[in-house]
Amino acid sequence: MRRTKPYVPGEQVNSENLLKLNTNENPYPPSPHVTKAIEGEMHRHLQLYPSPTADRLREVIADKHQLTKDHIFIGNGSDEVLAFSFMAFFEPGQTIRFPNITYSFYPVYSKIFDIPYETVPLQDDFTICPRDYFNAQGGVIFPNPNAPTSLYLELEAIEQILQQNPNQVVIIDEAYIDFAKTSAATLIEQYENLLVVQTTSKSRSLAGLRVGFALGQPHLIEALMRIKDSINSYTIDRLALVGATEAFLDEEYFTKTTNHIIDTREKVTTELEALGFTVLPSQTNFVFVTNEHQNAKRLYEQLKADDVLVRHFDVEPIEQYLRISIGTDEQMKQFITSLKQHLA
Ligand SMILES: *Cc1c(COP(=O)(O)O)cnc(C)c1O
Repeated sequence: MRRTKPYVPGEQVNSENLLKLNTNENPYPPSPHVTKAIEGEMHRHLQLYPSPTADRLREVIADKHQLTKDHIFIGNGSDEVLAFSFMAFFEPGQTIRFPNITYSFYPVYSKIFDIPYETVPLQDDFTICPRDYFNAQGGVIFPNPNAPTSLYLELEAIEQILQQNPNQVVIIDEAYIDFAKTSAATLIEQYENLLVVQTTSKSRSLAGLRVGFALGQPHLIEALMRIKDSINSYTIDRLALVGATEAFLDEEYFTKTTNHIIDTREKVTTELEALGFTVLPSQTNFVFVTNEHQNAKRLYEQLKADDVLVRHFDVEPIEQYLRISIGTDEQMKQFITSLKQHLA
């Protein structure tokens, strides 16, 4: 543990006036059905352990993807699902691959579970080149859309990667897929080596409830169950189980809030472009931007002084970029107003 450098989550600052656009949370509260179900459950069975198999929630999620509950694993946030997946599918001595610019939890899991890894440079336009992931010794993991670049990789490319790694597990971390095109979950019946990981933290406004899930063929799901049941049978509490279930049942609310965020994203993109920024074509609930006339770190600091928090990564080759989560229209107006005051 002395050699392990833990993941550093985005700053969580306690200030009333803070405009928090740094951790890609949803600006809208969860569906009112979610809150109501949690309130009801609070007065029922908290003295009893929750379901260790989360069958009802798994069925509800499976229905959305034309799969069965045996294709679904539920975890305490997708971070836990990812950690269990590293344990279940990647092995010490077998080098795995992920992009050099990606979710910074992957190197942390690799180190703690003693899994060697190679980071593959993104192409100059920050896209993932599928060929770079063929014949990976120990497996492959990357987000789609990727973070923090916000770029989506087409399913044909993912299929090539799956076909060229027939004996390895390929994990696609779809934390932002609801703001993008098609999920790789549509490929599960065809590929026994595909594990798709999703979360309720972004598109379903439940970052505080901690519910993530994996979709894959039953042999992969069973492996994850064995890991969970060797560590903690009850990773999802009763409130989380009922809350997340309602979040999936209220499709109308989900569609409305998701579409609104996408609309806001497109508007903010146009405004930022008018201010001289280059905005990568985002398929997520954030934008990744740069401006050749502005210093990104300085802008980050000046925005922070105005109580507007965005994310800056002080690493090559993205040190001149800012990642800005999409908030409400009102919040984005405040962000743009503050930003305009600091443009050199
Ligand atoms: C937010 C995020 C996660 C973690 O989500 P939780 O379900 O809240 O743990 C995983 N992967 C990526 C790429 C993310 O951006």
